[in-house]
Amino acid sequence: MIDLSQFIPFDKVNAAILGAAVVERTLSQLRGVFADSDAYERALLEQGDPLVYSVASVELATGDGDLHYGIGRIMPGRVGQEYFLTRGHFHQWRPAAEIYIGLTGAGRMLLEHEQTHHAYSVDLLPDGVVYVPGYTAHRTINVGDTPLTYLGIYPARAGHDYGALVDRNFAQVVINVDGKPCVVQRKQFLADLAVIR
Ligand code: MN
Repeated sequence: MIDLSQFIPFDKVNAAILGAAVVERTLSQLRGVFADSDAYERALLEQGDPLVYSVASVELATGDGDLHYGIGRIMPGRVGQEYFLTRGHFHQWRPAAEIYIGLTGAGRMLLEHEQTHHAYSVDLLPDGVVYVPGYTAHRTINVGDTPLTYLGIYPARAGHDYGALVDRNFAQVVINVDGKPCVVQRKQFLADLAVIR
């Protein structure tokens, strides 16, 4: 049992916090999330059902001014050209911002404002911070060859809204081009795939 009045250690390699609730997502649980649906079906056949990411969360304090936090870990891997990623979400309480602190590996975050649709990406690297503003969908992507781990800190009131992204998804995708991560428009990526096939 976690005691918020004590020092709370975490394991940044395994993204574990002793006593914290853990959510794991395997590839089969991420249907519709990756852009290339043919590559997704192929990946399920060829890779089985690998773990894509896990999150250990500490969400004990529930007052208006309280904070929650969690450690996320995304395994290295790809579905076709697209790197392993998190589902991504808005905060249920839209004004809630979040701080991400990179711990291990090499990552990229996709951010997208709900109303303006302004979309951009930011590196997520060890010993640095990404600021996720309110009203902004955020997805984390492992663009390296080792597990990506990070700490996320957010208002207790934030909550998670995954549903708002189900149909819309993110406007951008991060794909491997000649061994390097490249941010491209989803529409363009799908159009290029259609030409190739
Ligand atoms: Mn969040």
